[in-house]
Amino acid sequence: MAVKDYIRERFFPHLWCPGCGHGMVLNGMLQAVEKLGMSKNEIVMVSGIGCSARISGYVDFHTLHTIHGRALAFATGVKMSLPELNLIVPMGDGDALAIGGNHFIHAARRNIDITALS
Ligand code: SF4
Repeated sequence: MAVKDYIRERFFPHLWCPGCGHGMVLNGMLQAVEKLGMSKNEIVMVSGIGCSARISGYVDFHTLHTIHGRALAFATGVKMSLPELNLIVPMGDGDALAIGGNHFIHAARRNIDITALS
């Protein structure tokens, strides 16, 4: 599967500022998914709030756009109910380290195979 098959082209051009690094994060993540040969139907992306959270709108996976700082909590619920799926959670400083800081610590403590990008 080519990298472009993992994106929702209808939502482009993206809304990030010129020069923003989020496009590079999206590209790197899609290249990794493509190299691993993952089916988009086995991936769930969960995001919170902020510019980084827009990534979930651009990928053609199962996606959840949730509330600020709680993306990892939602992802934990999905992973516990459907452990065969691959969870990816892109986060900025707010979702991962400020309002979501406690969820980040407890997700690391549980270590239930969620990929957190921050
Ligand atoms: S993080 Fe948001 S505000 Fe900052 S450069 Fe990227 S799109 Fe613009």
